[in-house]
Amino acid sequence: MKIYGLIGYPVRHSLSPAMQNAAFKHLGIDAEYRLFQVTPDELEEFFFNFKKKLCGINITIPHKESSIKYMDELRGEAKEIGAINTVVLEDNRLIGYNTDGVGFLRSLKEGLDFRPASKKAIIFGAGGASRAVSFGLLREKIERIILVDIDGEKAISLASDLKKAGCNAIALEYDKRIIGNLVLDSELLVNATPCGMKEGDPELLPSKFLHERLSIFDLIYNPKETRLFKEAKKRNLKVVNGMGMLLYQGAEAFELWTGQKAPIEVMRKALPDALKKL
Ligand code: NAP
Repeated sequence: MKIYGLIGYPVRHSLSPAMQNAAFKHLGIDAEYRLFQVTPDELEEFFFNFKKKLCGINITIPHKESSIKYMDELRGEAKEIGAINTVVLEDNRLIGYNTDGVGFLRSLKEGLDFRPASKKAIIFGAGGASRAVSFGLLREKIERIILVDIDGEKAISLASDLKKAGCNAIALEYDKRIIGNLVLDSELLVNATPCGMKEGDPELLPSKFLHERLSIFDLIYNPKETRLFKEAKKRNLKVVNGMGMLLYQGAEAFELWTGQKAPIEVMRKALPDALKKL
């Protein structure tokens, strides 16, 4: 049996096993997707033993950047993003990919019918997920990206990498007094922060700035509807949560591992039940 899985710390809450195991079962593939709790101190040993035990993995927080040095090769956007979320064992070599950007773009099109070319976006959060999202938007020829993070240095670092790749990117430290006007001058707002995951989290921005030309992509999927999501819905704005992105980044990883077309509808169907069990 082939073993795949997810590494992270902690990895208790994940929908990936349900989604990937449903796909293996549906296609009659003798494989299993498991969770592997790996602390930062254990990462080197994990990759040392990888080839003996595993055929492929997904990677989550906090290992998306630090795993890169154990790869024999990076493919796709992984190098420019500076983070990997998928590893494939190919000819006894570890190949690192980042499928988050692809997952985001597929969901952006499917859920919001949003075409980034010549549009302006504002992204809250400049961590790993924001990196994948912004490089995805750049590939689709977005006109301008504003990056807002509580940690201004992180926003500056990502904006600088984007500029090197030819993107009109602007970095800002989070400041409620100025973000309103920038949202008014944007057509896409992406929440790539954890703000909204917990009951009682502060509002990301005052809802009066949610204007009618704005589409909203909230990367959070648990809860299904954050405070931002609900405010957008109340105003009849186009809004999606992160479930579609999760599905499509997983489908892309599945195809890289197996070489087979991912059974999207089977994987999609596995998600709500798994979410209830979290
Ligand atoms: P991350 O590396 O921790 O980055 C999030 C960044 O946002 C951090 O720099 C954080 O600053 C900043 N931040 C927090 N609250 C903020 C606020 N109110 N305004 C501006 N910036 C703020 O996390 P990540 O891995 O990029 O993930 C971000 C979110 O995306 C999480 O909710 C994650 O679950 C979700 N995600 C979803 C998918 C999917 O498939 N749907 C995939 C990946 C990630 P501090 O560190 O200083 O708090």
